[in-house]
Amino acid sequence: MIGIESGLDAELERLAREDLYRTRRVVESAQGVELQCGGRKLINFCGNDYLGLANHPAVVKAFQDGAARYGVGSGSAHLICGHGSAHHALEEELAEFTGRDRALLFSTGYMANIGVISALTGKGDTVFEDRLNHASLLDGGLLSGARFKRYRHADADGLLDSLNRTEGRSMIVTDGVFSMDGDLAPLDVLSQIAKDQDTCLMVDDAHGLGVIGDKGRGIVEHFGLTQQQVPILVGTLGKAFGTFGAFVAGSETLIETLIQKARTYIYTTALPPAVAEATRAALNILIEDQWRRENLNDLVRRFRRGAEQLGFPLMPSNSAIQPILIGDSRRAVEIGKRLLDDGFWVGAIRPPTVPQGSARLRVTFSALHDEQQVDRLLESLAKSISQ
Ligand SMILES: *Cc1c(COP(=O)(O)O)cnc(C)c1O
Repeated sequence: MIGIESGLDAELERLAREDLYRTRRVVESAQGVELQCGGRKLINFCGNDYLGLANHPAVVKAFQDGAARYGVGSGSAHLICGHGSAHHALEEELAEFTGRDRALLFSTGYMANIGVISALTGKGDTVFEDRLNHASLLDGGLLSGARFKRYRHADADGLLDSLNRTEGRSMIVTDGVFSMDGDLAPLDVLSQIAKDQDTCLMVDDAHGLGVIGDKGRGIVEHFGLTQQQVPILVGTLGKAFGTFGAFVAGSETLIETLIQKARTYIYTTALPPAVAEATRAALNILIEDQWRRENLNDLVRRFRRGAEQLGFPLMPSNSAIQPILIGDSRRAVEIGKRLLDDGFWVGAIRPPTVPQGSARLRVTFSALHDEQQVDRLLESLAKSISQ
C-alpha cells in the first residue's frame, strides 16, 4: 500500500514547473472597483461584481437589518426548520423577475448545478454538455451516473448529430454566457433542437443575469425565450447580484421534483436569512438602475474599440467578460504580474480552467468603472503585452 500523501509534494512541484501553481492574494478592503491588497490600491478588472452591488449601502443595510431580525445562522436545512420568510419572499421575487412559475434557492451555484443534473438524470439517461461549460455543470453530469457526452463549443450541428445517435431520456446543458470566454450560447438554436428532439434544455446564466438584456433578465431575455423553451434556468447570486447563493427557476413540477430529490438542496444548511434579505435589496436595485447596465455596456464597447486598435486578440464577446488570448501559461502569468505592478488586477486564467494552450487574461468590467480607468488599463495592457 502507498499512502496518498506520499505523492503530493511531487505533484505540487509538477504544477509549479508547468506554471500551473495557484496562489491567493489577500484583499484587505471591501469589494469594489478599487481593492486594497498588500497595502496597495489596485484597480479591479477581475471580479464578477458586474453591477457594483457587493458593497452597495442599501444591500449592506438590508443585510444588517436581516441579521438584527433573524440572527446569523439559518439553523437547519430548508426541509427541517431553516426555510424562513426571507428565503420564501426572495424565491417569489426571483420567479417573477425571471418570468418563471417558481424559483428555488440553493446555497451556491456549484451545488445547484450538481443537484439539478443528478436529481433529474441517472443511469440509462444521457447528458449533453458544451465542452466549455462551467466545472460545476461538468461535475454534475459526471456525478449523475448518466452517460455523459460533450459537444464542441456552441456546435449545434454536432450536438444534433450526437442526439440523433442516442436513445432514451436526455438533457442538454449549457452555460448562458461562457464564464471564461464571455460569448453567448446559441440558445435560440439549442431550444429549437430541444423541442424537435423532444429533450430538455438547462441553462446556467451565472454571468448573464443582471447584465444581459434590457431588463437584466439575462440570456433568456436576450433571445426572448419562455419557460417552455428553456425549462430549467439556473442563476447565481454571487456575481451581478453582489451577494451569495443561487437559484433554479422553472415549472411547479420541476421545483417540487428538486425539493424531493436534489441532494445538494436537501442535505445542506439553508443560506443565512440575512443573505436572502440582502439579495432582495440587490434585486430591486438591479431592476431599477438601468444605468448600471448601460454604463457596463458603454465601458465594454470602449474597451473593445481600444483593444482592436491596439491589435489585441479579443474573443467574440459583448458581455462583461473580455478575455485576451495569450496561449502560453507562463506568459499569461508574467503579463498579469506586469499589470499588477501598474496597479491593475486582471485574472490570468490557465488550464485546467481553460483548454491546454489557451491561457488568457480575463478582463471583467463593473458598472462602476470610469472611462479613464479603462483607457489606463488599455495603455498598461499595450505595454505589458509587448514586453
Ligand atoms: C460562478 C459560476 C458558478 C458557481 O456559482 P457559485 O455560486 O459561485 O458556486 C456556476 N456556474 C457558472 C457558469 C459560474 O460562472
